[in-house]
Amino acid sequence: SSTGLNSAPVRGNAPHLSGLDRARALIRDWGLGRAYINGEWRRADSGETIEVFDPATGKLLADVAFMRTSEARRAIDAAASAFPAWAAELAKSRATILRRWRGLMEEYLEDLACLITAEQGKPLDQARREVIGAIAYAEWYGEEARRAYGQTMPGNQPDRRVVIQKQPVGVVAAITPWNFPLTMVVRKCAPALAAGCSVVVKPAEDTPLCALAVAKLAEMAGFPAGVFNVVTGNPIPIAQALTDDFRVRMLSFTGSTAVGKRLIVQCADTVKKTAMELGGNAPFIVMDDADLDDAVAGAMISKYRNSGQTCVCANRIFVQNGIYDAFVEKFIAATRDMRVGNGFEDGSEIGPLINSRAVAKVERLLNDARKRGGVFHDGADIPAQGYFVRPTVITDLPLDADCFEEELFAPVAPIYRFETEAEAIALANSVKGGLSSYLYSRDIGRIHRIAEALQTGVVGINDGTTSHEGAPFGGVKESGHGREGGHWGLDEYLEVKYLNIALT
Ligand code: NAD
Repeated sequence: SSTGLNSAPVRGNAPHLSGLDRARALIRDWGLGRAYINGEWRRADSGETIEVFDPATGKLLADVAFMRTSEARRAIDAAASAFPAWAAELAKSRATILRRWRGLMEEYLEDLACLITAEQGKPLDQARREVIGAIAYAEWYGEEARRAYGQTMPGNQPDRRVVIQKQPVGVVAAITPWNFPLTMVVRKCAPALAAGCSVVVKPAEDTPLCALAVAKLAEMAGFPAGVFNVVTGNPIPIAQALTDDFRVRMLSFTGSTAVGKRLIVQCADTVKKTAMELGGNAPFIVMDDADLDDAVAGAMISKYRNSGQTCVCANRIFVQNGIYDAFVEKFIAATRDMRVGNGFEDGSEIGPLINSRAVAKVERLLNDARKRGGVFHDGADIPAQGYFVRPTVITDLPLDADCFEEELFAPVAPIYRFETEAEAIALANSVKGGLSSYLYSRDIGRIHRIAEALQTGVVGINDGTTSHEGAPFGGVKESGHGREGGHWGLDEYLEVKYLNIALT
């Protein structure tokens, strides 16, 4: 295909037919139906389980422990008991365990990739890239653990000195989404563990298996019991237990803006620190002077990666008048070339959506777009079973369509026309989300002017991807607060304390 989405396969291409079997073997061998609390693999107190399905076929993958309040409290007890010793460990020792964890992720790269495709659906090559992304975060924080530097500053009297220290915030709760079921867990836990915090993870109910696999690797790497816990099950009581408990000093959440807002309120009662990575609504701006082929290739990756289910996916493509017709023609042609199918099949570029609710949501947005006069340009046929959505480009859509403010989270690409630079900036900034944006232009002055004006935490310039484990990823406005990646990501899990010292 011409999209470049699946180009340059990463090592270890498993024969596709064995991918699902490989995931099933991992689930069985590692006992991933149980949750991981205080260094033990546990079933729910009630004995209840929740079914996890393969979204490409709708077939059952595993039964996982369906836990509630009591198990969440037990995980907090474990994390609170383990915290003092973990915080007191030499940073160097924590770094050693983190690096071992990272090494195990590399060793099991192919198994983890198969597990991602099995429970989340993304094409296997993209799943491999997700594992590589997780490895990059574990690696970065295996190094960064030792760099929680403090500062000194001049006192305000001759015999005074000020010393600024950084200390772990305490027990951290991490609630993660299903779209990057492995990386989202590691992106939160690696810096938290590096900082000296203990963690209770509550993964998304559609994709708990990757989080449990990460816990298995944490156990193998030698994190002490209670430092890393994963509680699977009913999100509302588990989240309530996590937010109600005073001993949990921070909540790091990635997910929808609606749930994030509720959790911020729930954290107010105990004045927890929060890091909120919420929904995006990325504008993708193509100026007349852009390189046409680069802009189309970048938009294809930004739009269709993970079947359009990323928080940084182009949700609104804005193309300037002079290049509009050429861009639309090429983008539609490239969309028609995209192969939709089971993520384990060679050549699949677009997998299924996560579940039937996701399909129903995009159908609602498509109906609204049709009603408002949007012109649809259909892509390839989709498999008969599984939660697939046909790749679709929509043109001539008015700005009041529901998908202008709402995230599509599907392989659906609305393209809007604009005339001036000022109009592009105003359109881009006219929504509540502010996570990522993209800009294609070859004029250095224009690039700086527009990039500075865009109200987002990340700007991709002549590039449809922006991930970097060392860079401060996060949003502004209703896309949340807090940053993940680099030393900014470590600082989220550290409190700053200063000592005012009299030299008497
Ligand atoms: P979601 O908010 O439905 O779920 C996220 C997590 O919250 C899951 O673990 C879920 O079980 C839990 N949850 C759901 N309802 C809850 C409640 N009432 N109380 C407590 N916890 C609850 O989001 P999702 O559908 O899993 O993920 C998609 C969303 O996540 C999109 O909006 C996407 O943009 C966003 N996202 C953001 C980033 C980012 O870094 N900003 C990254 C990935 C995804």
